[in-house]
Amino acid sequence: FHDRDGFIWMDGKLVPWRDAQVHVLTHGLHYASAVFEGERAYGGAIYKCTEHSARLRKSAELLDFEIPFSVAEIDAAKMATLKANGQTDAYVRPVAWRGSEMMGVSAQHNKIHLAIATWEWPSYFDPATKMKGIRLDIAEFRRPDPATAPSTSKAAGLYMICTISKHKAEKKGYADALMFDWQGRVAECTGANVFFIKDGQVHTPIADCFLDGITRRTVIDLCKKRGFEVVERRIMPEELSSFNECFITGTAAEVTPVSEIGPYRYTPGNMSKTIMDDYTVEVTPKAAAA
Ligand code: PMP
Repeated sequence: FHDRDGFIWMDGKLVPWRDAQVHVLTHGLHYASAVFEGERAYGGAIYKCTEHSARLRKSAELLDFEIPFSVAEIDAAKMATLKANGQTDAYVRPVAWRGSEMMGVSAQHNKIHLAIATWEWPSYFDPATKMKGIRLDIAEFRRPDPATAPSTSKAAGLYMICTISKHKAEKKGYADALMFDWQGRVAECTGANVFFIKDGQVHTPIADCFLDGITRRTVIDLCKKRGFEVVERRIMPEELSSFNECFITGTAAEVTPVSEIGPYRYTPGNMSKTIMDDYTVEVTPKAAAA
């Protein structure tokens, strides 16, 4: 991914893609003092741009560091990066980390860096293909107790168990893995939140030990606008067999129906389709949609 044309914004200026490098003694690399965002630009506008910048700063605070750029500066830097790369529909990846001045668990005075990369990332599938649904494995690792880790931070360190879980799932032929939480409740996927449908109601786990996704909250609002009742509650694995439909939500996944979770089968139906289509309309800039 490092060997391509284009520009990456780094600590206040745009640098050629291949020159956006860090030293091997970077604290973020050794001790996971790094946080990131995942955003999407649709038709030249980053969807919920400011919310993502604010979440990035919040994620850093939870790891005890402050990003030396304001929300407004981060917003402007993201737009400048898209412009430099000539992109209107793209994935946007800000990342902030502790630098290399001191090597050790404590690195209180290390410089805090911020970089922003953008790349083309079209929605993979047409709606008909998406409606077939993806297959999910059940992950071995659980989301940690909020008393064990800053579980609401989009912290690089929390993705270690996600990568392991996703690799295991892919090796078995699944698209992704469903993770339970430390109490054994259904939690989320490795990079997306999860929703279920039963008897015309939408059910989703309470986001108390994993990322309360920006897409998750958008989808809850879209459901309510449609008059679909949304129940945020504790969902146990024993219930997985009782749902009719399932879908996952995230900036990258958008709204993607699920056809299988381990031994359980779902048939993506009208409610999933309605929510998927409503999300597409929601993220499409209004002028472009007209
Ligand atoms: N959970 C995890 C672990 C994620 O990585 C993501 C993607 N950022 C989400 C949920 C969904 O968050 P969002 O809707 O804000 O992209």
